Amino acid sequence: MFNLNLMNKLNIRTFTKDELESFFINIKEKKFRASQVFNWVWKNNVDDFDKMNNIPVSLRSKLDNLFYFSKTIISSKQISTDQTIKLGFKLSDGFICEGVLIPSKKRITACISSQVGCSLSCAFCATGKLKRLRNISAEEIYDQVYHIKKISEKKLKKPLTNIVYMGMGEPLLNYKNVIRSIQFITSKEGLAISPKRITVSTSGIVKMIHKLADDSVKFNLALSLHAANNEKRSQIMPINSSNNLESLKSSLQYFNKKTNRIITLEYIIFKDFNDSIDDAKELIVFAKDLKCKINIIEYNNVEGLDYNKTSVEKTNQFKLYLEKKGFIVNVRKSRGEDIDAACGQLANKA
Ligand code: SAH
Ligand code: SF4
Repeated sequence: MFNLNLMNKLNIRTFTKDELESFFINIKEKKFRASQVFNWVWKNNVDDFDKMNNIPVSLRSKLDNLFYFSKTIISSKQISTDQTIKLGFKLSDGFICEGVLIPSKKRITACISSQVGCSLSCAFCATGKLKRLRNISAEEIYDQVYHIKKISEKKLKKPLTNIVYMGMGEPLLNYKNVIRSIQFITSKEGLAISPKRITVSTSGIVKMIHKLADDSVKFNLALSLHAANNEKRSQIMPINSSNNLESLKSSLQYFNKKTNRIITLEYIIFKDFNDSIDDAKELIVFAKDLKCKINIIEYNNVEGLDYNKTSVEKTNQFKLYLEKKGFIVNVRKSRGEDIDAACGQLANKA
């Protein structure tokens, strides 16, 4: 089950703490040594056994013959006029994915990728124009957060506060690795970030929303709704044909019930497509039996795609209408547009 490299070594970064402990016991080493090594690998991000100075030299060389360390390298960096930073990450097999550091007054957010490309081809999204090349592994997802966290601490002198799985790819189609990455990110041997500060955004894979609920996850879930009638939603999100609004709604109710967590409904507001009061009424019909809040997202125009952002007036009218009906509504302004770092603009152009 663990990857071997050309030298027939195992990637130590694919082991959970429990797995590493069992492995150490099998090779006749003490369990607590596994825990020390795990700390070096995750807490200190050390990628050389010789730097593990509380491990006996003989064990270091034994481990060096058994294991290698996978690496994710920052391959490009662009800084926006609004201080948003877009990073290109080169994965160990040369594929590139992107992550973004988004500073605001109240929080510093890391937006990270779960797949290289995306298979779901939403009509408005730059990533959707790329093919899905592969899933990103748990340790590669972790690395994106680790690098962004370091940059935040070094450059901005502020801690990273939030993580959103809103970069490239559909997280729930890479379920196992996403869950495992969150285990590493939240564990005290890892980055010890609270799951309450993590949000996974999905285009709406009904079966996997049920699974999240059954797994009683502690992080937040956001659904990319964008249209609250099936015909319109299928027009912009092909996934809606097999995961329609009725089945989505019942999966979200199940999630509410099982986890007792509020869901975020994301709604990109497009000019002349879903920005009228009738659209708001449909949104209310969908949202009214859910424990949810609504994030209205400004559309970021994507070159070559036929969608446009709506006016500020229309956005405000839409927001006010929902608020009058008792919903909690936030408008999410676009960030990092000048460097194509905004939501839905990640497409490895840099
Ligand atoms: N695949 C997941 C997560 C990645 S996309 C999902 O679809 O939810 C993260 C968010 O960015 C989604 O809400 C998506 O609809 C939104 N998005 C995509 N393209 C966008 C664009 N051009 N402008 C604004 N938001 C966009
Ligand atoms: Fe994929 Fe999400 Fe973009 Fe749709 S919006 S193509 S699901 S990344």
